Amino acid sequence: MTTSTSPTSSSSPLTERLAAVREGVADAARAAGRSPAELTTIVVTKFHPASLVRELAALGVRDVGENRHQEAQEKAAELADLDLTWHFVGQLQSKKARQARRYASVIHSVDRFSLVDALAAREGEGDSDLDVFVQLNLTDDPARGGVADRDLEPLVEHVLAAPGLHLLGVMAVAPLGEEPARAFERVRAASGRVRSLAPEATSISAGMSQDYREAIAAGATHLRIGTAITGNRPELR
Ligand SMILES: *Cc1c(COP(=O)(O)O)cnc(C)c1O
Repeated sequence: MTTSTSPTSSSSPLTERLAAVREGVADAARAAGRSPAELTTIVVTKFHPASLVRELAALGVRDVGENRHQEAQEKAAELADLDLTWHFVGQLQSKKARQARRYASVIHSVDRFSLVDALAAREGEGDSDLDVFVQLNLTDDPARGGVADRDLEPLVEHVLAAPGLHLLGVMAVAPLGEEPARAFERVRAASGRVRSLAPEATSISAGMSQDYREAIAAGATHLRIGTAITGNRPELR
C-alpha cells in the first residue's frame, strides 16, 4: 500500500495499513447495513516478532491471533505486560490444549471431540470459562482442519456439555477455488444450525485479508486479518 521512506510513528507503513483496514471494515459494515461496533478485528501476527505485536498494541490493537502453539506461547509470555486478548486460530494438538488454555482467551479451531475433552476444565479447577468457536471445514480435505458439515451438530453438543467451555459460534476459512461470498453463505447457514442448539452462540469468525468484505456481508462478527495489516510474513524456513 505504501513504500514510505520516512517512517515516522504517525505515518509508518504499519500505521497506514492498519488505518486502511479499519476503514475498509467500517465501510463494508455500513454497506451491509451493520454497525462497525459489532465487529472484532483480530490482527493475525503469526511469523512476526513480538516487537511488531508491541507496535500494534501502541496503535490501539487489543485482539491478536496466532496459529502455532509454541510461537503463540512465547509471544504471549514476552508481552504479558500488555493487556492483549490472544486468539488461537490454528490447528491445535490435543496434548497442547492445556497449555494453550493458559494464554489464549479464545480458541477458534475446535474441530473434534478429543480437543473438546482436552480443553474442558477439570473438576475443581478455578479456571474461568474459555471462549471457543467450532471450526467448520468447507473443503473435502480433512487435513485442512475443521469439522465436516455432517458432524457439526454432534460436536456442538459435545462442546455444550463440556465444563468450562463457552461456545461463541462457528469459524471457517474460505477455500481456495470457491467464491468467498458463496463459501460464507455456507458458514451463515451453519451458524443458523449452531444457534438452533445454542441460541447464544451467535458469533461468526470468518474473513481474512483478501475476503473480509464478503465475510462481513455474510454476517461475520470476528475478522482474522493478517498480511493486510502486518505486511507480508517473513519466509518460513
Ligand atoms: C494466517 C491466518 C489468517 C490471516 O490470513 P491473512 O491472509 O494474512 O489475512 C486468518 N485465519 C487463519 C486461520 C490463519 O491461519
